[in-house]
Parts: sequence; structure tokens; C-alpha cells
Amino acid sequence: MRERLTNWAGNITFGARRLHRPESVAELRAVLAGADRLRVLGSGHSFNRLADTDGDLVSLAGLPRTVEIAPDRRSVRIDGGIRYGELAARLAAESLALHNMASLPHISVAGAVATATHGSGVRNGNLATAVSGLEILRADGSTAVLDRDHPDLAGAVVGLGALGVVTALTLDVVPAFELRQYVYENLPAAALDEHLDEILSAGYSVSLFTRWTGTDIDQVWLKRDAPLTGDLFGARPADGPRHPVPGMPTENCTGQGGVPGPWHERLPHFRMEFTPSSGEELQSEWHVPRTAGRAAIAAVTELRERVAAVLQVCEIRTIAADHLWLSPNHEQDSLALHFTWIADTDAVLPVVADLEKALAPHGARPHWGKIFTTAPSEVRGAYPRFGDFAALTRRFDPQGVFRNPWLDAVLDCSASLRGKTPGNR
Ligand SMILES: Cc1cc2nc3c(=O)[nH]c(=O)nc-3n(C[C@H](O)[C@H](O)[C@H](O)COP(=O)(O)OP(=O)(O)OC[C@H]3O[C@@H](n4cnc5c(N)ncnc54)[C@H](O)[C@@H]3O)c2cc1C
Repeated sequence: MRERLTNWAGNITFGARRLHRPESVAELRAVLAGADRLRVLGSGHSFNRLADTDGDLVSLAGLPRTVEIAPDRRSVRIDGGIRYGELAARLAAESLALHNMASLPHISVAGAVATATHGSGVRNGNLATAVSGLEILRADGSTAVLDRDHPDLAGAVVGLGALGVVTALTLDVVPAFELRQYVYENLPAAALDEHLDEILSAGYSVSLFTRWTGTDIDQVWLKRDAPLTGDLFGARPADGPRHPVPGMPTENCTGQGGVPGPWHERLPHFRMEFTPSSGEELQSEWHVPRTAGRAAIAAVTELRERVAAVLQVCEIRTIAADHLWLSPNHEQDSLALHFTWIADTDAVLPVVADLEKALAPHGARPHWGKIFTTAPSEVRGAYPRFGDFAALTRRFDPQGVFRNPWLDAVLDCSASLRGKTPGNR
């Protein structure tokens, strides 16, 4: 019997006929040469059918690890299978750092940048903005090498796995730095409304967590270099370590209480050796322009009883604008509204659809790796460079070897992502 292969959350069973784990680029080339349809699986942390195929699935986790720091110590070249946790430890040992990290270090770098995964911080671009070079193995066996000056790079970085196999990436790095992480509780709704920008700018990285059982914010997580004392706009310092999802073990989380620590042990919320988030969940997320942030929060507040019924926790973060064609932060400083749902697709999807309706007037762009039901035409309409991206995929992969029904729906308008269509289950 075929091994049942699922994503991390378990809501997607992949339809691939085989999973390959090549141990060299030569083996990878041989797999590609024998495939008519192929997708790369990163660490499988996406919640929809983006990574799926009915052809061959390839994991690059077995490729030799590459971590080559440039002589000027401003960039690092890495392989297409490495995870952030491993890369971060190697960089920290060299007194270097990435500018930001997601909530968890478990994800692969190539998979994360392909979906524009992000952390938080009004001045921090998403993780894909650190990419200054890509090496992409195309279906015809050729390798495209895109450096920072290459006109295709801005289109290829958030590539949804549609151009080819990313065998190597070059990332910008900075000197290592320390941060302190503080958790505050019960931020009054009125303070949020009045001081939203000040609160979101109160640290290098700021996250607001709420279960929407009331209108106040349950927890504010601040990651910053300078020490903090006293209240924060009416929120009180937590009296011990916290997990964003009430009841979950706090040992899963990175160090709090303002104790200084290295960047890679403070920027993610969750520690590599432990289960991130709740472990039994679905996720959705929408990005709106930061200027629409207050109105978007008000729109969710209107729906909060419906949302709270299927929610574990909601996180509000910020991301700086960039120029990447398919980045949800394309040309706009953004506020992201993230929802960790209960693990029940039938119960969650109607609420997702209602939220999308409520957030659409505020210019919401869904996270590529999470659950959404927005019509493909609306998704495409949200990206001024979408047509250029579609043309890029046709140029890189004219036979559609790297396409799948999920991409066909988004790129071609040939199907809807609503209801039973390929997407969320
Ligand atoms: C618990 C949890 C917490 C999360 N926290 C955050 C967060 O803080 N911020 C955020 O923005 N998102 C977050 N996410 C979402 C997650 O970061 C994205 O779904 C990300 O894409 C997952 O990376 P992955 O390596 O698992 O990629 P996968 O889900 O395996 O793949 C994603 C896409 O990348 C492609 N891909 C992967 N590797 C390659 C390669 N080498 N070449 C070409 N294509 C490739 C795949 O084909 C697919 O299209 C979270 C998810 C979970 C489960």
C-alpha cells in the first residue's frame, strides 16, 4: 500500500505517486528527467494544496547541506533543503544573523520564501526580501542563475514552486544581535485604537495575540534591544512565561521576561526542539495595507463571535513594503491578521469566507501557504505584477511540469478555489 503522505497539519493528503529524497543534485536531475509532473515539498508546513501533485514529489532535505558565507560576510549561499533552525545556528556560530524569522524555525528556507513567509516589525521586510540570488533547476535540465541585478529575480523569489526546483539561494546577512522578549497582558481595545502605530513600533518585532472572546488584546509580544519597565499603554507585564495559545506548554516558547538572548532564540516564538503553535490546527492569514489596519481590525471585531467559535488564537503583525511581484507586501507597508483555527475544515471554511468578505474592501491579500477561498480573479487583481509572473512561469516551464491544479486555478482562472475545488482539504 502507498505510504499516506500528509502536510504538517494533516489536513492535506498529497496525491503524489512517489516521494523522492535525492541525496545529490545529480540524483535530483535524474528524478526530474524522468518526471512529467513534479513538485518540491519543503517541510510541508503549508495548509493548502500548493505543494501537491499527482506526479512526483521531491524533498530536498537529503541534499548535502551548504552554508557558504561570502568573504565580505554580507551574504550566505545555502542549499534548497535547509531549514531556518539549522541555518540560524550555523550563522550565529559565525556571529552573523538573518534580519528576521517566522514564528517557527522548523520550516525550510526555500519553502518559506516561495510563499513570502514573514515575521514581524514595521521596518522588517518578509523573509523573501533577504534573497539576493536563486539557482533554479528547470524542467529542461538547465539551471537559471539569478543574481540581485537579474530582471527576473523580483518575480522568481516568491515563486510558489512554479518555476522549477530551487537548488540554492543566496541570502543577505547582518552582524549577530541580541534581543529581549517581553509579554504584556490585557491591552485595552481603546488603547489599541488610539495608539496602534506606537504599539506596533514599540519593538524590533511586535505581535498582538487575541482570542476575540472580548475586544481587548490578550497578549502583546515585544522583541527589542532596550530594556522596558512598567505598563504598556495599560497592558501589564506577564508574571511568568506565556504561550500564545492558552493552556499550551510555555517551554515550547523562546525566552521571555526581558532576558537578553541571541537573535535566533528570540525572533521565533517557538523553539526548534518543540511543537510549534498548538500542533492541531488550521491557519489563514490576510495582509492589508498598514494604513487600513485599524479599519481591518474593526471589521474582524464585528465578526468576533463567529471567529471566536472556531479560533485558537489570532495574531496581528506588521511587515515592511517590498518590490517582489507576488509578495503580499508588494509596494505596501502591511498589517497581517493571522488566524490559528481549530482543526475542523468544515467548521472553519464558512468563517474564512465571511472574513474574506469583510476584509476585501480593505485590500486584503491572502497568505499563499494558508487556507483561503478568495476567487482566483480577485487574488490576481490584488497583484499589479501578476500577469508578469504568469508569463515568467510560462517562460521557465513551457510544458507545465511544475504546475498543479492549485496553481492552474490561481494562474489561469480555469477553476475556482471555492467549495470543492483543489485547495484547502
Ligand atoms: C505552526 C506554523 C507556524 C507558521 N508560522 C508562520 C509565520 O510565522 N509566518 C508566516 O508567514 N507563515 C507561517 N507559517 C506558514 C509557513 O511558513 C509557510 O506555509 C511556508 O511556505 C512553509 O514552508 P515549508 O518549507 O514547509 O514549505 P512547503 O509547505 O513544503 O512548500 C511551500 C511551497 O514552496 C515550494 N518549495 C519548497 N521548497 C522548494 C524548492 N527547493 N524549490 C522550489 N519550490 C519549493 C513548494 O513546492 C510549495 O509550493 C506557519 C506554518 C505553521 C504550520
